[in-house]
Amino acid sequence: MKFKAKNFICKNCGGVLRYNAVAHELKCDFCGSIERIEKSNEPIEEYDFNEGLRKSYKNRLIDNREIRCNKCGATFKLDYYELSSLCPYCKTPIITDFTKEIKPKSLIPFEITEREAQERFKKWIGSLWFAPNRLKDFVDGNKKLTGYYLPYWTFDSNTRTRYSGQRGDIYFVTVQRRVEINGREEIIEEQEPRIRWTPVSGEVYNSFDDITVGASKTIPHNLLDRLAPWNTKELVPFNQKYLSGFISEEYTIDLNDGFKYAKEQMKRVIIRDIKLDIGGDQQQIDYMNTEYSDTTYKDTLFPIYSAEFKWQGKVYDYLINAQTGKVVGERPYSIAKISIAIISTITILATIYYLYGRYHH
Ligand SMILES: [Zn+2]
Ligand SMILES: [Zn+2]
Repeated sequence: MKFKAKNFICKNCGGVLRYNAVAHELKCDFCGSIERIEKSNEPIEEYDFNEGLRKSYKNRLIDNREIRCNKCGATFKLDYYELSSLCPYCKTPIITDFTKEIKPKSLIPFEITEREAQERFKKWIGSLWFAPNRLKDFVDGNKKLTGYYLPYWTFDSNTRTRYSGQRGDIYFVTVQRRVEINGREEIIEEQEPRIRWTPVSGEVYNSFDDITVGASKTIPHNLLDRLAPWNTKELVPFNQKYLSGFISEEYTIDLNDGFKYAKEQMKRVIIRDIKLDIGGDQQQIDYMNTEYSDTTYKDTLFPIYSAEFKWQGKVYDYLINAQTGKVVGERPYSIAKISIAIISTITILATIYYLYGRYHH
C-alpha cells in the first residue's frame, strides 16, 4: 500500500523544516528561518474507557506500507506502526497518516536538544560508581541519538477496594531466664516482643489521575515505564509539525493491555493505603477486590532519545526522557570495583562484630 509522505517546507527557501527544541518551533535546515507552530486552544480531553475499547476492536492492520521521499525520490518501507520517520537515504523528515481507530490527540513536545541529552548521558555514566573507568573515556565521543515520539496511554480511574486481612500489634511479655554471672547462676527478667494478630476488613477509595503506561513494543516495557514521571500538564494538542525530524509511532500495546499495566501501578498504591487503613505494627492482606469506575484515557506521544553503545562485545540500551532529562538504561559494571567494595564491606562488618563482641560480655 502506497502512502503519501508529508513535509513542511520553508517559505523563504524551499528547504525542509524540522522541529527545534530550543525555539519550540519549526526551523529550516538550510536558511535557519523559524516558522511558528500555531498554538491551539483546544482543551486536552479525557475519553471514556469503554467507548475506547469498542473503537479499538475495529482496528485493521495496514501492513506493507510504502512511502516515497519527496526530496530524493527513493521509495522505502515503513513499519505498520510508524507515524513519522526519516528517509534512510537523505534523512529528510517524512510524516504519514494515522492507521489506528484511536489517534493521539495530544503530545509533549521535545524540551531537550540532542546535545543536552548527550551531556545528560555522559553525566549519568560518570555518576555510576561501579562503571569501569575506561567506559567513561569511551562515551566521551559524541554518540548519535535518535529522537522518538513514543505512544503512551494515560488513565484516570476511581477505585473502591474491599479487603480483609490481619492487623499485628506488638506487645511485650516478661520472661525469666537463667544466666551465669561470675560463675554463679542467676535468674534475670527480660522483655520479649510478641505479635497479637486480629482479623480486620474494610474499604479504601482512591482517585487516580494520569497513570502513564508505555504503549510501544519496540522498546522494553520496563525501560519505558522507568522514564516516568512525565509532566502531563505540559501536553499540547496534537500537531504533525511537532513530529518533523523524529521517528514516531502509533500504539502497539492496545488500550485493554495498557489498562492491565495501569492496574498494576494502581495496585501498589492501593496496597499501601490498605496497610495504612489496617494500622498497627504489621499488616497482612488476605483478600482484596477492586472495582474501577469513571475510567477515562488519553492516547498521547512522549518525547524520548534512545541510543545504544557496544562495550566489550555486549550492547547496552539507554533512554533519555526528552522532557525532564532523566536517563535510564542498562549499565556495565566493573568487576574490580565491585570486588573492592565487597571486601571493604566484609572488613567493616568484621570490625563491628569484633567490637560488639568485646562490649557485650
Ligand atoms: Zn529556508
Ligand atoms: Zn530521501
